[in-house]
Amino acid sequence: MKRSLEALILVDLQNDFLPGGALPVPEGDQVVPLANRLQPHFPIVVASMDWHPANHKSFASQHPGRRVGETIQLAGMPQVLWPDHCVQDSSGAAFAPDLYTGSLDHIVHKGVDPDIDSYSAFFDNGRRRDTGLADYLRSRSVDGVYIMGLATDYCVKATALDAAALGFTTFVIEDACRGVELKPGDCRRALDEMERAGVRRVTTARWLDPVERQRHLDEETSVIHEGRFVRLVARRGWEFAARRGTRGVVAIVAVTPDRHVLFVEQYRWPVARRCLELPAGLVDDTAAAAGESFESAVKRELWEETGYEAGSVCPIAELVPSAGLTSETTWIYLATDLERTGSGGGTEDEAILVHHIPWDDATRWLAQRAADGYLVAASLYAGLWLAAEKLRWPIDIRPPDTGA
Ligand SMILES: [Zn+2]
Repeated sequence: MKRSLEALILVDLQNDFLPGGALPVPEGDQVVPLANRLQPHFPIVVASMDWHPANHKSFASQHPGRRVGETIQLAGMPQVLWPDHCVQDSSGAAFAPDLYTGSLDHIVHKGVDPDIDSYSAFFDNGRRRDTGLADYLRSRSVDGVYIMGLATDYCVKATALDAAALGFTTFVIEDACRGVELKPGDCRRALDEMERAGVRRVTTARWLDPVERQRHLDEETSVIHEGRFVRLVARRGWEFAARRGTRGVVAIVAVTPDRHVLFVEQYRWPVARRCLELPAGLVDDTAAAAGESFESAVKRELWEETGYEAGSVCPIAELVPSAGLTSETTWIYLATDLERTGSGGGTEDEAILVHHIPWDDATRWLAQRAADGYLVAASLYAGLWLAAEKLRWPIDIRPPDTGA
């Protein structure tokens, strides 16, 4: 099954367009961290680069007697004259130093013909030369594009207008764009023009606000089978398991004042084996706990499973146990200042054994259990390793004995 996908298009996040560059866009640097934080939310990420030969005719320096900001006729069209910028292979043409480029699936170079400018990432300004971006996107089954970058009133606008004209469902991520504003109001007029052409306006909250993000994900998720605790669902044709009635899973690296760490042992039916795991549980797992914070879920679950009250808890990392199988993520927490006030063991239907293992012996102890066939949760090893950094308690990493 072919899935329709959405692509993020990063427009011209290059040094010359940042404050201090040859053609600085005011506050242009402020969108770079947003570009970094949006990229993980898209299956396809594309970047355009303004990439001019040194004799490019959009440069005022190529027209003796003309000044930057004047408009001339070029290739039969009005052309604003710019300072020399984004000259091929120059440091000004390089990506912004803080931009993460490891996720870029495709890079488009534009403005390479000295005789015509190219604001859009799809075509030059006369629509004579195609950059190949539309073909690339179609080859990857992209039907929706989200555009951000520099500058709102030139390259972002031109890219969005072309995307919409080419039939892509087109969005401009308003707060992740900045404009040149040669004339005050240029950005507002550019956004209005995009809107009239069918481009929809969104903000980064669509991905970066967890509630809004989840609402959009739920809209594109269909339920195949509803179980008591778990449902089988599909998103864009991809089937996976999702839990019901919880906002997340917390797993806890709990260390006692005498430098022991707590592990729990339970027979687990899906793998039909006794498993060693971190104390863990679901946020909002009962009606009584509905609306609780992650922090109170950590304290509640730790007490239910181990009988320890934690004086202090802090989040360490969000991890994925099996990203192709389930939408679940695990928040690893560190719990310290422990005091034993209960017996633990979990609720009556959970038969949980609690192990207090000296921190310095933990990986040796786990390796022995693994050698006997116990299964160790990936989050337990990850949690120990991450907590060791946080606590500054070095840990001896010892791989389990697989008998190989
Ligand atoms: Zn240019």
